[in-house]
Amino acid sequence: MATLKDNAHLPVFHSKEAIRSIVANWRESGRTIALAPTMGALHDGHLSLVEKGRRVCDRVVASIFVNPKQFAPHEDLATYPRTFEDDLRLLAAAACDGVYAPDAAQMYPDGFQTSVAVNALAAPLCGESRPHFFGGVATVVCKLLLQVRPDVAVFGEKDYQQLLVIRRMVADLDIDVEIVGAPIVRHTDGLAMSSRNAYLTPENRARAVIIPATLAETAEVIGAGSRPSAAIAAARARIEAAGVDRIDYIEARRADDLAPLVDGDDAPARVFAAVVIGGTRLIDNWAVPRNGNP
Ligand code: AMP
Repeated sequence: MATLKDNAHLPVFHSKEAIRSIVANWRESGRTIALAPTMGALHDGHLSLVEKGRRVCDRVVASIFVNPKQFAPHEDLATYPRTFEDDLRLLAAAACDGVYAPDAAQMYPDGFQTSVAVNALAAPLCGESRPHFFGGVATVVCKLLLQVRPDVAVFGEKDYQQLLVIRRMVADLDIDVEIVGAPIVRHTDGLAMSSRNAYLTPENRARAVIIPATLAETAEVIGAGSRPSAAIAAARARIEAAGVDRIDYIEARRADDLAPLVDGDDAPARVFAAVVIGGTRLIDNWAVPRNGNP
């Protein structure tokens, strides 16, 4: 994937007028545009979104904005990793065509008071443990889509519930953009890449592998016919035994609408987990293989 190199030719736009103008120029000359929204601290998972955007459109914009509205007061907004110069080098090496990096005043000027709420899809899983989260995400993504006006926006399956919430919002609000999902990029030991992995001590980084290992096995046994309720109970016990701080959730749900996967249901499904290890909350999910398809 991308390596660090000079980012001299990667234009960075800080205002919505500037990004709109370059996107309008591209569109006038017949180009299609993809947007990959991120909060920075980029890794190969983010860069895979840029690469996906490249494959489906002529131009790719990455946005970098650490969105205060999706953090609760007790969460890690202040300490969230910020590596802007490295991010620009990685994006340049990934052949990104432009970066949109608004500040909070640009995004939420004085007097701002609108929010976007997606209801049922945002209620379970992360919606339960982070009730503020999807409202903040939907609001900022709605703004990013209206500011940049891409043809396509790319989101990672790492945040699978978020991907469904955004698809629903775009359909419900008639926003003229195609939402494309990208597969989860993992480290070689299986841990899903995440900006928050940087918080983990070496000991907890090693411990975190229990999450993908358990999700993979649980998805496998459910796909092979085990009852989801029994498989999830075993998974919970296995993760707890690994010495984690807390399991926010581990659940099997239908892949299309996140309804709980009841025993005997063979619909497309995923196993989802949010686990706190050494104070760091990690999320991951794994598709249940159906009819031999992973
Ligand atoms: P974030 O910067 O964490 O808000 O993530 C920005 C985008 O990158 C979201 O669409 C995420 O789902 C996606 N993303 C983050 N980590 C990964 C990963 N390991 N694999 C694929 N996509 C990812």
